[in-house]
Amino acid sequence: MKKWQCTICGYIHSGDAPPEVCPVCGADKSQFTLVVEETPQPAAEKAPSPVVGKTRLEPGPSPASSAPLPLLSSEGIRRLMIKHHLHPITVHFPNGIIPMAAAFIFLAVIFQFAGLATASFYSMVFVLITLPAALFTGWNEWQKKYKGAMTPVFKIKILSALTVSACTLVSVLWSLIAPDVLKTPSTGRTLFLLLHVILLGATVSAGHLGGKLVFKD
Ligand code: FE
Repeated sequence: MKKWQCTICGYIHSGDAPPEVCPVCGADKSQFTLVVEETPQPAAEKAPSPVVGKTRLEPGPSPASSAPLPLLSSEGIRRLMIKHHLHPITVHFPNGIIPMAAAFIFLAVIFQFAGLATASFYSMVFVLITLPAALFTGWNEWQKKYKGAMTPVFKIKILSALTVSACTLVSVLWSLIAPDVLKTPSTGRTLFLLLHVILLGATVSAGHLGGKLVFKD
């Protein structure tokens, strides 16, 4: 059976033809290339340096991605960021803290416990500080690893990341301007809670799509 590889995300499809749309990144079938399995050669016909059982693509991958570069060059640093998985590392700070901060806000309202609202505020400040690193490493990974492809999956992921950033910024500013927003029932409090529901949804969306791209399932 033939194998086809998505040149955007690396997903492998088995079948006579490539899928209409990549189930992982949403790229269309024009982005798939046929994978050619090189079969072992008889000993007498072997080339001096045979590659046995290796999978290769036609046409081959861009040599630019494997060419050596000075480590301290901008390009070298960007490649190191991908090699050492800086985006998954940095994105776990906001992704891990936002659900806790949102939970604190709802618990603060339910139990009328101002301490939880304060804890949530400082958590959101921390998220705001860590977001630029997550955004920058994510943008770098999208540009370098996924060729900046604007498929539906990446559109939703970028929209989710921007929504998370905007909601976090608004949450922090709102708390600074109106520190008592959670104390009494009001339209403002309802909107503040709604803001954090949207924030949580966007965080889950970005994390889900990130996991899909990493694990290819
Ligand atoms: Fe793909």
